[in-house]
Amino acid sequence: MPSDPIGAILIVGGGSAGWMTANLLATRLKGLPIAITLIESAEIATVGVGEATVPAIRDYLRAIDVDAFEVMRASEGTVKLGIAFEDWAGPGTSFFHPFGRFGVDAFSVPFHQYWLKQRAHADPTPLGDYCLPIAVARAGKVLLPPDRPANDLGVFDWAFHFDAGLFAKYLSARAQATLGVTRIEGTVTHVERDGEDGNLRAVTLADGRRLSADLFIDCSGFASRLLGQTLGEPFEDWSDLLPCDRAVAVACTQELELSPYTRSQAHEAGWQWRIPLQHRVGNGYVYSSAHLSEDEACAKLLARLEGAPLADPRTIRFRTGHRRKVWSHNCVAIGLAAGFLEPLESTGLTLIQSGIERLLAHFPDRGFDPSLADEFNRITRLEYARIRDFLVLHYWANRRHGEPFWDACRARTLPESLAQRIRAFTGAGKLPRFEWDSFQPPSWLAMFAGFGLLPPRHDPLADRQSSADLAQSFARMREAIARAAALAVPHAQFLAECGAATRPAHAVPA
Ligand SMILES: Cc1cc2nc3c(=O)[nH]c(=O)nc-3n(C[C@H](O)[C@H](O)[C@H](O)COP(=O)(O)OP(=O)(O)OC[C@H]3O[C@@H](n4cnc5c(N)ncnc54)[C@H](O)[C@@H]3O)c2cc1C
Repeated sequence: MPSDPIGAILIVGGGSAGWMTANLLATRLKGLPIAITLIESAEIATVGVGEATVPAIRDYLRAIDVDAFEVMRASEGTVKLGIAFEDWAGPGTSFFHPFGRFGVDAFSVPFHQYWLKQRAHADPTPLGDYCLPIAVARAGKVLLPPDRPANDLGVFDWAFHFDAGLFAKYLSARAQATLGVTRIEGTVTHVERDGEDGNLRAVTLADGRRLSADLFIDCSGFASRLLGQTLGEPFEDWSDLLPCDRAVAVACTQELELSPYTRSQAHEAGWQWRIPLQHRVGNGYVYSSAHLSEDEACAKLLARLEGAPLADPRTIRFRTGHRRKVWSHNCVAIGLAAGFLEPLESTGLTLIQSGIERLLAHFPDRGFDPSLADEFNRITRLEYARIRDFLVLHYWANRRHGEPFWDACRARTLPESLAQRIRAFTGAGKLPRFEWDSFQPPSWLAMFAGFGLLPPRHDPLADRQSSADLAQSFARMREAIARAAALAVPHAQFLAECGAATRPAHAVPA
């Protein structure tokens, strides 16, 4: 035991961040004499979006000992195999960012180097044709082990789309019923600090109740009630790199096929998401207010809906970036209170998850050794910057010429860390890994190839295989993909199986 252990943790905020934090902390700290309390305000709504995830969400559910299919049932969830990017590389274009790999590597040379070689030998087959999850997703189906090839072609992951409100409700019920988390309804109106060290001591609620703690977790959303407002931690603003600052969102009825992927469609001043859930479709237009008014954005979103709107559209204003220190004094921010990177790659929930894991990896005692916070903040900054670079690439590489918003995106000066990656790929097809990358080489490859940003030559080591041999092995890969894809089940059928009380026949361990 540390000499002066934390005895009480207070989480301010009951959105996805607050309840995800409560569940994971309570699970990992079980057995220790640490009281966990969460305050949520009935007067201040949650952001109400955050419905597409990345596969890491399943690690989170495993970590809190929850069955992924139970969560799907509780949250009207659907399967997500990746994101389809439409009209980004020019009107009429479409490419896919899958949660998986392309082709099969050979002799320690990545598959894409052979693919580049074959392109130079007049084989125009798109890279996406060597990716099983793309074939399955485009067919509106789901394929999980054991029906997958045993080689690289079968290596892919999946995530969810879910109703964020239902997800938070599920987590809230679980934290209170089984993990001993105390929920208090109230609005924080005052925060007390220690006169000597500046640490937070207690919060006061609108009804006068006072709650003290040793460690405070700020999950209060964009308000950043503790870290931003009370501790005055400055915001590192990345609006100059990621120009969208508004989203207008509305759900509509489901009229099209229940696709197992998120659709991101580029439009005049940003992009529009389509997230299919079992009971509705989530839609949102993420745009730059310097290029489009709110009224225009609403009108355009409504005009493009596939079904009837289920409510009035609502606008969400946001700023891209993060608090310079996400852990300051005895306060750690998780979720929107810490920062926000626009939702193009669905990274909000995964940043929450990694933030909690990082806090646990650097868990303090009441002495709050500054080296713990320093390392936590160093990693957090890197993680945000890596994701930022990936997102900036999407905008910078666009091929929508003649539209002011998109022309300005292509003209933008890039962070050196991103420029370095672009040089590495467009020069020699290299996909470097940087410390605390959230997106791995196949994701970067999907983007580079999708936008047609290709190197002029392939790796000389790819010449170990002749073009004729490669043509044969490429044909075999395409056949293997077609065979495996034929075993996939329609998404709706899969969900119907998930809806049953028993585990779906096609399910693998969650
Ligand atoms: C347009 C948009 C689209 C997004 N899409 C995605 C996506 O597809 N995938 C993804 O992973 N992420 C997405 N995100 C991010 C995701 O929505 C958030 O990361 C996630 O919902 C967590 O939000 P939060 O809990 O931090 O904040 P909120 O949901 O805003 O919750 C804040 C909580 O704090 C409470 N609170 C605030 N002030 C006080 C106070 N003074 N006293 C007491 N309580 C208080 C509120 O009552 C509320 O309970 C998106 C975000 C935006 C803006």
